[in-house]
Amino acid sequence: MGSQQLLYTGKAKSLFTTENPDQLLCQFRNDTSAFDGQRIEKLDRKGMVNNYFNAFIMEKLATHGIANHFVKLQSDDSSIVKKLRMIPVECVVRNIAAGSLCRRLGVEAGLELNPPTFEFFLKNDELHDPMVNDSLILTFKWATQEDIDQMKAKAFAVNEVLKKLFQEAGLILVDYKLEFGHFNGQLLLGDEFSPDGCRIWDAATKKVLDKDRFRKEMGDVVEAYEEVAQRLGIKLPEVA
Ligand code: ADP
Ligand code: UDP
Repeated sequence: MGSQQLLYTGKAKSLFTTENPDQLLCQFRNDTSAFDGQRIEKLDRKGMVNNYFNAFIMEKLATHGIANHFVKLQSDDSSIVKKLRMIPVECVVRNIAAGSLCRRLGVEAGLELNPPTFEFFLKNDELHDPMVNDSLILTFKWATQEDIDQMKAKAFAVNEVLKKLFQEAGLILVDYKLEFGHFNGQLLLGDEFSPDGCRIWDAATKKVLDKDRFRKEMGDVVEAYEEVAQRLGIKLPEVA
């Protein structure tokens, strides 16, 4: 992979070109950010854990017919992905009330949400990712109606697969954020699925096992990610 050029450095991942113009190398860094990038720290092993975590989930989703950008693992902390034209919105599905939903609506954390909710947020750190809706997305041409319908349908389809997967490991998938993009006229799930972008609680104890440990300075952040990985059967390299 000699011809790599850095294309984009985000808060947690870096994207590089490859010899194949349709594919990118996605490197998962140890950088961990909260509050729209206001707090950033390096957490040992996080990039590697998220890379393996994401590969496992994306492969699982693909076997359930949810097309996504993942091509293959490239190294411990990087994967090859299809190069997408990203839609600049985040899609959030919630099974249990937590985080901004509680802050915005005054609902109690832990409340079961039936049916699960769906929200769009504009990807814009300077504006603190404001919530947007179908009307705004159409007017500002961030996506088409067909994209909107597909993003919602695919985001809920992901829930059907993952809620069960986590449940079988004694875990609750509280909520998660997804990003989509276009590839050759197809809408694909992109970005990542890892404990950086979802909430996961132990079903019995409600122990927090996701990035809220970092946001709330609870400690043992990567240890919690590794616990989830191990309970889902994700094989991680041994500590050197
Ligand atoms: P952020 O940009 O939010 O700081 P990251 O550090 O995770 O986040 O950077 C990854 C960036 O790459 C995001 O902007 C995301 O939208 C984009 N991205 C994710 N997957 C792909 C893909 N397959 N093709 C092109 N861009 C992608
Ligand atoms: N999320 C994310 N990136 C963001 C905003 C949210 O990955 O820029 C994830 C977050 O980890 C959680 C879900 O989306 O799993 C819902 O987040 P919420 O709206 O509750 O916001 P927060 O409390 O994290 O500010």
